[in-house]
Parts: sequence; C-alpha cells; structure tokens
Amino acid sequence: MTAGASVAPRVAFGALREDYAQKRAAIDAAVARVLASGWFILGDEVARFEEEFARYLGVEHVVACANGTEAIALALQAAGLRPGDEVLVPANTCGPTLAGARLAGAAPRLCDVDPETLTVDAARAEAAWTPSLRLLLPVHLYGGVADAEGLLALAARRGATVVEDCAQSHGASWAGRMTGALGRTAAFSFYPTKNLGAYGDGGAVATRDAAAAGRARELRQYGWTRRDFAEHEGRNSRLDEIQAAILRAKLATLDAENRRRREIAERYDAAFAGLPLRLLRTRAHTVPSRHLYPVRVERGRRDAFQAHLASRGVETRIHYPVPLHLQPAYAFLGHRRGDFPVSEEACDTIVSLPIYPTLSEAQVAEVIEAVRGFFDANPGSRP
Ligand SMILES: *Cc1c(COP(=O)(O)O)cnc(C)c1O
Repeated sequence: MTAGASVAPRVAFGALREDYAQKRAAIDAAVARVLASGWFILGDEVARFEEEFARYLGVEHVVACANGTEAIALALQAAGLRPGDEVLVPANTCGPTLAGARLAGAAPRLCDVDPETLTVDAARAEAAWTPSLRLLLPVHLYGGVADAEGLLALAARRGATVVEDCAQSHGASWAGRMTGALGRTAAFSFYPTKNLGAYGDGGAVATRDAAAAGRARELRQYGWTRRDFAEHEGRNSRLDEIQAAILRAKLATLDAENRRRREIAERYDAAFAGLPLRLLRTRAHTVPSRHLYPVRVERGRRDAFQAHLASRGVETRIHYPVPLHLQPAYAFLGHRRGDFPVSEEACDTIVSLPIYPTLSEAQVAEVIEAVRGFFDANPGSRP
C-alpha cells in the first residue's frame, strides 16, 4: 500500500452493508414479493406495516409517509396546527425537525436543552413560553427520551399539544410506554441509518387519535377522502410498497438490535467513566434506543480527539455542528450566539462514537482503546 492511500477504517461509523448481509434472505424475499405482486403504491404491504408498527408502539394508528421531515409536518397538521401557530422546538436537534415544522406552516419558538441529556425539559420549555404557543415538538435526540413527564404535565396545564419527533427513538420508552405513544401525534423517520431504516426514504405518523390519523391519511394523498375527491388541500407523501415490505422484515429484529446498542453503550459508559469526557445521562424511568453515542470533550480539543481516533481507524461524526438558531436559513428568527448556551456548547464539543448492532466485541474494544490512548497522550480535565 502506498502512503496516503485511503484505507477502510477498522471501525466505520456505520455498517449498512454488513446489516444487509445478515438479513439478506428476509429482505430479498420481501422485495421479490412486491415485484411479483405488480402493486407498488399504498397496497397490502403498507397497510400491514402500519398495523404491525402500531401494535409495536401500542397506538391505534400509524400512517406511513414519504420521509421523516414530511412525518413531522403531517404529525403537526394532524394534531391541529394552523398556519402561524407557534411551535416549541429545541435549538439542539437535527435540521429537519424545524424544516418539517416550517413545511406545516409553524411559527417556530426555539428553546434550550438540559445540559445532562441535551434534550428539552419542562423548565426550559416553560422559560420559552408565549401566549400563542400551541404545540410542543420535543425531540428524543440520540435515542434518549426527552422530559416526557414534565412536558406532558406542562402541556396539560397550559392547554398545549405535544407532538413527538421520534426519528431517533424507535423502541425507546418512558415508564413502559413507547416514544411515539406519548403525545397527541408522533413522527418517525425510516432514513436508512435510523434504528429502523428502509432502503430509501420513509416516514410515519403514529397516534391514538382516529381523527388525527384520518387527517394525516388524507393529506398524504392529494387531500383525497375518496378517489379523485379532495376535501382539503393535500400533497403526495406516500411510502411505497417495497420500502414497507423491507420495514416489515426489519421490524422483527428491532428490539434485539436495540438491546445490543444498549449493551455497547454500557461498555462505553463503564470504560470512559474516569476519563476527561462528559457522557450523556439517561433520564430516570426511560429506556433509550441508543441511536447515537455522543460524548463531549473539552472545548478546543475536538479536532485533535477526532484526528487521534481516525489515526487508530475509528470513524466519528458530529451531531450536530450548528444549533438551529445559528443556521443562516433561520436568521429571520432574530437569534444570536449566546441565546441558547447549552445547545451552543454541545455543538462545539460533541463527538459521536460508532454504535450499531453489528459492531463486534473486538471493535468495541478498539474504540475504547483509541479513546483511552488519546487521554494517555493528552491528559486533561473533565469538561
Ligand atoms: C433523521 C431525522 C429527521 C428527518 O428524517 P428524514 O427521513 O431524513 O426526513 C427529523 N428529525 C430528526 C431528529 C432526525 O434525526
């Protein structure tokens, strides 16, 4: 090998090819079944996936749709959002949370997050309250459950509606109830890297409310209440049969895969406990889905930390580098640096380590060794 040639990392950040290799028989059979059926849009596979995922979540209705961003828009509209209504969104999240809210016509009201979990809690939601705030859009970021108890109580007290962003929390729960079953409606993404991922785009709205489900169902297909008859203005936001068949096959292993993710997270937590790293806390009475495993390093040391891990063959990523209020697209909200200090600090210091079900014990040990090696060479204080 020549110097400078790119080498496959020993521990890649994701492993979708390995995941497919493990599930190949089931996935290939699912795709072949759809191809042979001659029916590709809103058929049996979508209907059965909706039933199966609803049963998994413990809700009455799931309405599958085109992607997670659309699911957020549909979930807000189905929950009663009218254009111009204020919706509370955490500043520390993935951009599509806000993109989806804007598609639905929401007026965003941003808030900061709790420094231990980096998700929204009732105290921060209340601090950002305005009289025109009608909906809360908490994000179960990284697969950690937001302050469900506090936010549901706050919403009930203030007459507001909770809509969950569950794009990273498939299978995570609070007090024995799945995320996606906690608010009026909830949005899921099946982007390929999510804990439950399609082989393309996909999303879904979950709800116990039949009227909300009906509204989402109309909106996702041209506003039709019956063929060629539009009661309300709608659009095309459908999940296709091939993706639905793949998701049915993959739902079967979601719980086992989440258990493996939690096992890896526990190994990391134990190995890193004494290092100058700040680990995320998991809220009481919650079971996280461990979609990501972010740690925070001392300010100014992130580049060196990532470079050291890369030199040991360990890929890392940043989730997320810029909080919503500092994204140029949302300059019209009038915020500036300093407005949401916890989110800003997180974006400046956070690094995600590899965590996925096919990660081997040897790879987990390599990640731990690489992280320890950095601090052996560069001791520092806990951020
Ligand atoms: C992935 C993700 C989305 C968007 O999902 P898409 O399917 O890519 O549109 C929304 N919110 C969060 C928190 C996400 O991680």
